[in-house]
Amino acid sequence: MDGELKQKLASLVSSPVLWDCPLRDYTSFAIGGPAMALVRVEDLLELQRVLHFLQEQKILWRIIGKGTNLLVNDSGFAGVILILGKGFSRISSLKTELNPVPQTSANIGDGSVVQVGAACSLARLVDWCTDQGLTGLEFAAGIPGTVGGAVIMNAGAWGREMAGVLRAVTVITPAGDITTLPRAELDFGYRIWHDYSSQSPGVGETRENGGAKLVVVGVELQLVLGDKEQIRNLCQSYREKRRLKQPKKECSAGSFFKNPEGDAAGRLIEASGLKGVRVGGAMVSPVHANFLVNSGGATAEDVVSLMKKVQAAVQKDSGILLEPEVHFL
Ligand SMILES: Cc1cc2nc3c(=O)[nH]c(=O)nc-3n(C[C@H](O)[C@H](O)[C@H](O)COP(=O)(O)OP(=O)(O)OC[C@H]3O[C@@H](n4cnc5c(N)ncnc54)[C@H](O)[C@@H]3O)c2cc1C
Repeated sequence: MDGELKQKLASLVSSPVLWDCPLRDYTSFAIGGPAMALVRVEDLLELQRVLHFLQEQKILWRIIGKGTNLLVNDSGFAGVILILGKGFSRISSLKTELNPVPQTSANIGDGSVVQVGAACSLARLVDWCTDQGLTGLEFAAGIPGTVGGAVIMNAGAWGREMAGVLRAVTVITPAGDITTLPRAELDFGYRIWHDYSSQSPGVGETRENGGAKLVVVGVELQLVLGDKEQIRNLCQSYREKRRLKQPKKECSAGSFFKNPEGDAAGRLIEASGLKGVRVGGAMVSPVHANFLVNSGGATAEDVVSLMKKVQAAVQKDSGILLEPEVHFL
C-alpha cells in the first residue's frame, strides 16, 4: 500500500492503524507472521467506510475475532485484518420480563431475546446471562472467543451449539448493506455455518477477492428464564470439566480436528499412539490428543506438518480422514 493509501485508511478510523502487525499476538496459538495492517473499527460507520475503501482499492481483507480458532501462516497476511472494537460488544435484552423477582415456577420457561454485538466475548455473555437468570447458553461456559467467531464456527460443547440458541444474525456486506437474517433462513452444521463456509480457505488455498464476503456485527439469541443458581452451577461444572480435560499451559486453538460422525477425533489420535508426537515446536498434547499445541516456538509450518502426520496415521489405522476444525489464514 503506498503512503497516500495508508494515510487514507488511517483517516477512516479513530484507533491507530497497526502496520506490519505480528498476528501471533492476536491468536491463541501464538503463531503467525505479520499482517500488512491491523485495523480496529469502533462502530458501524467506521466499518462501512473501511469496507468501502478496501473494496474500492481491491485490498485483501479478513475479519477476525479473538483468534482462538485460527492458524495464521508464517508469512503473515498481505492485506488488512479487521477487528471489531468496543462499539460491537454491547448486550441488551428485548423483553422486560428479564427481572423476575421473586423467581417462581410460573415465570420459569418465559422466553427472552438477547441482542449482543459480535465483538462481545462469549465468556462475558455467559456471565451476563447467568446474572439475568437466562438459561440456554451454559454449554458455552469456558469456550473462548467472540460471539461473532462463535456464530461463524457454530461453536458448541456437551451436545449443544450456537445454532440452537440463535434467533437472528446481523451481517454487513462489503457494499455496506446491513441485513438481519432470521435463524430459519440459515444453514448450520457441525462447527460450520454453511452459508459462510465457502469463505474460509483451507491450507494452501487463497482467495482472489481476499476476505470474507460478510462481517457478522451482531446476533439475537432466544433464551429462557430459569433458575439462577442452577445456571451458575451448570456453567461452573462445565468449566471444571474443561480444566480437568484440556492442556493448561500450552497455546492452542482448542480441538484441532472435527469429531467424525459417531466417534471422537481425540480417541482416534490416541489410538494411533500419537499423544506427545512432535514436529518442531508443535506437539499432539499428551493431555488431550485432539489438541495440537504450540509447545514453544512452533511455526505454522510445524503445525501443518503435524496435522498431516496425524491425518495420515489415523487414516491408515481407521480409514477415517480427520478434517480440521481450525480455520487457516
Ligand atoms: C482452549 C480452547 C478451547 C476451545 N473449546 C472449544 C469448544 O469447546 N467448542 C468450540 O466450538 N470451539 C472451541 N474452541 C475454538 C474457538 O474458541 C471457537 O471456535 C470460537 O468460537 C472462535 O471465536 P473467535 O472469536 O476466536 O474466532 P476467530 O478464531 O478469530 O475466527 C474464527 C473464524 O471466524 C471468522 N470470524 C470471526 N469473527 C467474525 C465476524 N465478526 N464476522 C465474520 N467472520 C468472523 C474468522 O475470519 C475465522 O474464519 C476452543 C479454543 C481454545 C483455544
